[in-house]
Amino acid sequence: WQTLSNRIDSVAPSATLAVDSKAKAMKAQGIDVISFGAGEPDFPTPDFIARAASQACLDPRNHRYTPTAGLPELRQAIADKTERDSGYAVTPDQVVVTNGGKQAVYETFQILLNPGDQVIIPAPYWTSYPEMVTLAGGEPVPVLSGADQGYLPSLDALEAARTERTKAIIVNTPSNPTGVVWDDDLVRAIGQWALEHHIWVVSDEIYEHLTYDGAHTPYPGALVPELRDQLIVLNGVAKTYAMTGWRVGWMVAPTAVSKAAGKLQGHMTSNVANVSQRAALAAIQGPMDAVETMGRAFAHRRKSIMVALNQVPGVECPEPKGAFYAFPDVTGLLNRPLGPHGTISRTSSDLAAAILEETHVAAVPGEAFGAPGHLRFSYALSDQDLAEGMRRFQAWIGA
Ligand code: PLP
Repeated sequence: WQTLSNRIDSVAPSATLAVDSKAKAMKAQGIDVISFGAGEPDFPTPDFIARAASQACLDPRNHRYTPTAGLPELRQAIADKTERDSGYAVTPDQVVVTNGGKQAVYETFQILLNPGDQVIIPAPYWTSYPEMVTLAGGEPVPVLSGADQGYLPSLDALEAARTERTKAIIVNTPSNPTGVVWDDDLVRAIGQWALEHHIWVVSDEIYEHLTYDGAHTPYPGALVPELRDQLIVLNGVAKTYAMTGWRVGWMVAPTAVSKAAGKLQGHMTSNVANVSQRAALAAIQGPMDAVETMGRAFAHRRKSIMVALNQVPGVECPEPKGAFYAFPDVTGLLNRPLGPHGTISRTSSDLAAAILEETHVAAVPGEAFGAPGHLRFSYALSDQDLAEGMRRFQAWIGA
């Protein structure tokens, strides 16, 4: 009677959160760990947002439940923002405010999938996608493209993975973990292919505002407007406004799906905390200068980390044009002695463990993203830590 459900036993813990908590535990023991592990901006939430939240605490309206799908004014602001940023006009009843983008992804698959339905997941992928598909009874179908392909999926490979049971495809660009930004033509082609084969497009746009070198986020809703009845957009304030801990995300979907999400959320969490919703409203309606300032800092760090990684023989890293991750192929560092103890790593998981143990630098192994033989470095850390972390990594490799 003490066994847990097959459902929960089929799910792996979040490897990115695991690396982050190991690094934090080492820090708590007084070890000087430099973490490239966390997928969160190191900046404080901009003042005007925190002030809106602090006022919201004192406003009695915010002591009560809001509608499950979110404050009406926030849903309206999200609809307006979606049209402003992605050129995709939607109505507030298509919007559901969720506890982080994560809950929006989770709800999407709970709503779309029947047992055995397949979801094509271009890999390297964000670690939670396949687990959430599995939790919903679906079958994740990863389609891997490597560093030599610039981590861009080819339409031929997607078509080869398609079956009668294909229900949805995930589009996540800028991408976690690669930082790669797909171009308009690729997204248009995938959108048209999905349209032709009646496949839902789940577009995770959480890194939309973090692009560099003139790259821009391609929005399926604007590029293939005919997709609107089979398009679900996922987004949130976490990455754009340095608000990971505030837990506000959203889904924008056809009303049949947004209504279903409201129903599901009504039994799961009810509304997102009011104070956080008020903060998100201030963020979305506020000026973008703080976002631009953070973007400039990330752009600078991106250059620094690329210079450092390219100095390491055996490491190949397509230049990321978005988000705040670099995702080098490190197969050249496997199966040979490295570091003062001549440690040999057979896999990127071993390599990440050795680097953390011996140099106190944390990075997430590619296994977490369906791409063994890689490491993910988040460059959302200070310039000094970035430089010191890369110095340790290079010294350990003997570069
Ligand atoms: N989607 C992607 C691709 C992410 O990287 C993350 C966070 O790491 C999320 C969604 C969820 O973000 P949150 O739940 O913090 O809003």
